[in-house]
Amino acid sequence: MASLLVTGGAGFIGTNFVHYWLKQHPADTVVVFDALTYAGNRHSLPAPGTHPRFHFVHDNICNTASVIEVMQAHRTDTLVHFAAESHVDRSITGPDTFLETNIIGTHSLLKAARRVWLEMPKEQGGPFPEHRFHHVSTDEVFGSLTPGLPGSDEHAPYAPNSPYSASKAASDHLVRAYARTYGLHTTTSHCSNNYGPYHYPEKLIPLTITHILNEQAIPVFGDGQHLRDWLYVTDHVRAIARILQQGTPGETYNIGGHNVLTNTDVVHRICSEMNHAFAARPDLHQRFPQARAAQRGQAQSLVRFVDDRPGHDRRYALDTRKIQVELGFVPQIAFDEGLRTTIDWFLANQAWWREMTNH
Ligand code: NAD
Repeated sequence: MASLLVTGGAGFIGTNFVHYWLKQHPADTVVVFDALTYAGNRHSLPAPGTHPRFHFVHDNICNTASVIEVMQAHRTDTLVHFAAESHVDRSITGPDTFLETNIIGTHSLLKAARRVWLEMPKEQGGPFPEHRFHHVSTDEVFGSLTPGLPGSDEHAPYAPNSPYSASKAASDHLVRAYARTYGLHTTTSHCSNNYGPYHYPEKLIPLTITHILNEQAIPVFGDGQHLRDWLYVTDHVRAIARILQQGTPGETYNIGGHNVLTNTDVVHRICSEMNHAFAARPDLHQRFPQARAAQRGQAQSLVRFVDDRPGHDRRYALDTRKIQVELGFVPQIAFDEGLRTTIDWFLANQAWWREMTNH
């Protein structure tokens, strides 16, 4: 039986990870450690007292003493680190919190893990020779790829272009340094764009869905031709689980969805799906009477091209052969299927996203 500390477990991917893990490993202890920033939602997780081995700690990962206390109290052997400031636009207008959480916060966790797992004396229950620190990183650390060039593999040089990706790159280096210098058992994954249930509605896919329902303009940056590889969130979670169980300490793994689309393609596919949903479901007309565009089958007319994001990367692409060959991981959810499931989830969970957006 494992004891997991999941940082950022009240955010999008962390929430999906926690639900998956509790279902697959009901005997394990799962402690979520989350500061509940604007992106975190306690209600996305099991309610207090409903799961015997689930615990929630409301705190900041920069508080090293608190992390150490929680790890000791729960005899944590596995730390899965999702907590981050994650929205590129916010990193452009306010980079400081990105450096604070993504760099200082990650270092705080590494210090705590080193203290508990490597330095704790026997009389206090340590050390923990069997431990794992998994760091969740992004494909954005590799920067923008020239069209036609092969995807970045795990050894590609770093070239971050936004304060967000620069802060994630710095945290990756710290994780690597703690593995090399202190012998901490770490793994790192670089993942492409995720989508799915519990996605905060400021990101492209949930923003498009909720703007159609709210009859708001759908902003698309620049010419809309930026290429992203979309991965359904449960596939990401499965990949992390595979790395925790079979990955080699000290290694990094790329995780991609094999669904490369332009932003315009993504938005148009959502509009078509929403038009179909409104055509097939009279209840949606009653629940979202303001969504006139979707009722008339014209959600596309809400699209507005807006000034491009400064430093906006044109293309991300990953070479994912390593995780496929070494760990046997391949994503299972095709984009159209994942998109339909995601739209259904947002239609069924209006209260969740209304609370997140204060509409
Ligand atoms: P998110 O923004 O939805 O959630 C982040 C969570 O971290 C929130 O619950 C928030 O409250 C918490 N948090 C933020 N600062 C904290 C702090 N100082 N202390 C404790 N908790 C704090 O993020 P997400 O989309 O779920 O991403 C999770 C991780 O995956 C991030 O590290 C991100 O860089 C990485 N990632 C995301 C994507 C994606 O498409 N969303 C792709 C690749 C990698």
